[in-house]
Amino acid sequence: MFVVRALNAVFNVSEVVRDNIECRVGLLPPRVVNVIMTTYRARNTQLLIQLNDPYNSWCLIEEGTIIRFNDGKALGPKLCPGAVHLDLIKRTDETITFHMLREGCWEEPSPRTPFCPKHFNTRYGQYVRYVFGSGKPNPDNPFFHLPALLYAVFYGGDRLKVGTTIIIKGLRRFLEQPVYLIALLKLCRNIEDARELEVWFSKSSRLFSQAPSMKLRIGDIIRSLMRKDLTKDMCRFVRSLILAVTEATSRRGRPGSSKSLADQLWKKLSVINVTRPDLEKELLRSRVAVDVNMADKILAGRAAEFLGIVRGFILLRVNGAGNFAVPYEVFRDRLTYARVTS
Ligand SMILES: [Zn+2]
Repeated sequence: MFVVRALNAVFNVSEVVRDNIECRVGLLPPRVVNVIMTTYRARNTQLLIQLNDPYNSWCLIEEGTIIRFNDGKALGPKLCPGAVHLDLIKRTDETITFHMLREGCWEEPSPRTPFCPKHFNTRYGQYVRYVFGSGKPNPDNPFFHLPALLYAVFYGGDRLKVGTTIIIKGLRRFLEQPVYLIALLKLCRNIEDARELEVWFSKSSRLFSQAPSMKLRIGDIIRSLMRKDLTKDMCRFVRSLILAVTEATSRRGRPGSSKSLADQLWKKLSVINVTRPDLEKELLRSRVAVDVNMADKILAGRAAEFLGIVRGFILLRVNGAGNFAVPYEVFRDRLTYARVTS
């Protein structure tokens, strides 16, 4: 048995494209937005797992590793994520030096929270619960001192989603969830400022207000990848985003930090694309599991090669069943009845 706790990868810039995109808001004359799109290639993707052995060992599943899932049942309940202990050692204007220690947990969470009672109120627990909309920021907690990024996600369809992440997660955040393109909106002082903007944006524009369901997101992303027209999709994303941000920031009652945001984005908008061409090809040949039940049915009793992580999906080549893509979110912190054999 093991639990997937985190993912890892090496990111390299593979392409930078500059473009001027004409955008129109309402009846105003069109204006040009300067867009820089950076494509990152995610290499050496890995899963950090915790084994249920006498030592509670941690180990990495690397690309090419074979995972043998148990007969009958492959995937069990979600478990408590445990705690992440964070110490900020040194901070300058440009760098943050920190120490991070992960503590896993084998308990099932209490109802309506991802945590068990022991880990509910750790500093990590406070931070995670705050990001998911409950609890208050704690000024004594180092997670609330880190700069945080406000970003917008495009899945390829009509709706956008705003999100936040503390800066130390970096690009790994965009491998953890199914996304197509991401726009970097603002680097905020801390997660509290980023969350304030996120919540406000979600209420202030119809394009942000209803985040699409996981099933719709997955469908939109797969269709976008099959279209193979990144430039056209990027233009569509930029136009929708500029419209949504301008619409939101022209309303009354906006947070102070949102005032210059629309003006800033008109001047320069950073779009990022995190991919891996070889795995993307495999993804388009894969059956996709949208939920845990479907993943469990296919994986139980089979051996599978871990091909890697792309666009938020764990790709598996399942013996006798072809390629199979499972959203990383399905696996994370879930009890997995399997062993890693090579
Ligand atoms: Zn726990």
